[in-house]
Amino acid sequence: MELSQKTIHEINDLLEKKEVTVTEVTQSVVDRIAAVENKTAAYLNLQTEEALRAAGVIDEKLGEQKKRTPLEGIPYALKDNMCTQGILTTCASKMLYNFNPPYNAHVYDRLIEEGGILLGKTNMDEFAMGSSTENSAYKITHNPWDLNKVPGGSSGGSAVAVAADTAFYTLGSDTGGSIRQPASFCGVVGMKPTYGLVSRYGLVAFASSLDQIGPFTKDVEDCALVLNAIIGHDPKDSTSLNLEKKDYTQTLKQGVKGMKIGVAQAFFGEGLQPEVRKSLEDAIAVYKAMGAEIVDVSFQYLDYALSAYYMISSAEASSNLARYDGIRYGYRAEEYDGLVDLYKKTRSQGFGEEVKRRIMLGTYALSSGYYDAYYKKAMQVRTLIKDDFNQVFDGCDVLLTPTAPTTAFGIGEKTSNPLEMYLTDIYTVPVNIAGIPGISIPCGLDNNGMPIGMQLLGPILSEETLLKVAWAFENEKGLKNLKAPLETEV
Ligand code: GLN
Repeated sequence: MELSQKTIHEINDLLEKKEVTVTEVTQSVVDRIAAVENKTAAYLNLQTEEALRAAGVIDEKLGEQKKRTPLEGIPYALKDNMCTQGILTTCASKMLYNFNPPYNAHVYDRLIEEGGILLGKTNMDEFAMGSSTENSAYKITHNPWDLNKVPGGSSGGSAVAVAADTAFYTLGSDTGGSIRQPASFCGVVGMKPTYGLVSRYGLVAFASSLDQIGPFTKDVEDCALVLNAIIGHDPKDSTSLNLEKKDYTQTLKQGVKGMKIGVAQAFFGEGLQPEVRKSLEDAIAVYKAMGAEIVDVSFQYLDYALSAYYMISSAEASSNLARYDGIRYGYRAEEYDGLVDLYKKTRSQGFGEEVKRRIMLGTYALSSGYYDAYYKKAMQVRTLIKDDFNQVFDGCDVLLTPTAPTTAFGIGEKTSNPLEMYLTDIYTVPVNIAGIPGISIPCGLDNNGMPIGMQLLGPILSEETLLKVAWAFENEKGLKNLKAPLETEV
């Protein structure tokens, strides 16, 4: 096995024993990028020379230093909506084609402190709006399990980089499923932490009350390692939680004996691909066999989650995206006739179709006369959904659901029908509405060999439990660090 194909914890063992150097590890990923990036197109921007240089520096440092931290010298990538000073941050939009942030996102600073090695910035749906990464203004990212299929979205590039071994881990952002859904489509682990657990400072805002940063990794243990590094209080984000830091690796292997795993009919409804259903039923049996108790739970208001999500997220997006006016930074229309025309032309030319659709929907929902009927109503539904989850978690420790109704669909298959695209988020958006954590892990393959994702959800700040429950399954089934068939072609 090439070094690039290993997990973080496997590389850590090798580095501890001094059997490999950080330079060798980094070179292995850089070679892998050179071999497959032309097929997968996960990256918008590569920093491989800088990465190799940084690797050399860390090797020197590690020669003298006794203890290394778990992410020190491990190459990773960031979704292109996280600010990186001196490195373009485009949000895959023409609007920010030349945006060089004057500051770093909190998570980037954290990973610099940990000694992480940045490989580059990954492709995404423009401003994180989408479910397939097809809304990028720059390129289409391909699913390494079938290059004709989408990787999911909006963090498709981050999911693919991990699935194709062109990064050991990546960060994505999840507003309505953008970490979990692409993780499920690409056969990797993806986690959306509790709202407020990871600072959003320097994450370009889509919908501020829903956005959350989280990791993509090759297995659950790696997820715990990355989560350890990125959580923590940040005074620069007013919604950042001020809690004592946890070490999520400590409890990982405790098993699920006696735990209550909830299953709700609402997540197994119409439109669920039969193989996905079957795979989830098998997973339920695995948990039972490991000593967990399976309990039926039910929701009252879940049917309204998707509509409420698209109202709230579009309303917030219309406000957040008002700043892109061509005046201070980013794209500016070349020809215009006065200030208002400058705004109009800049925004018409700089934003893609989906972003404009959301801005229009959001502006409409917030306008006087409609505010009460749409935005306010959606916020009331949000409270009902939160209460719904609270009541469900009174009866179980975690909830087991599919991550998405289907496995990855074909490139171009849903682009002409936004509503159909929105429906792929039906199982992930309620989680952001409630602010609770969720993880997606691989649980099988469909008849075409495409990965199926299982989603585990828990109450606020139940990351420890989720990782434990996820690890138990992964360990039992051996479904970790899966290799996409792209492998055989290289
Ligand atoms: N697909 C959802 C949307 O388009 C979620 C996006 C996200 O989580 N960033 O809004």
